[in-house]
Amino acid sequence: MSRVSAFHSELGHKHHDNNQCQEGNKIEPRHRRSGTGNLPLCEVCEKLNKEGR
Ligand SMILES: [Zn+2]
Repeated sequence: MSRVSAFHSELGHKHHDNNQCQEGNKIEPRHRRSGTGNLPLCEVCEKLNKEGR
């Protein structure tokens, strides 16, 4: 289980909360913001969370 605190890209349209998410890991540190940003959860993270990864 690799759930982390929610984070998002200031340029993105969804937030991430799993550190296995490739999309989340692609976010450059300078664009990365903590919290959900009131954005929906990324579907990749959702799937990883459901699978318990
Ligand atoms: Zn994600």
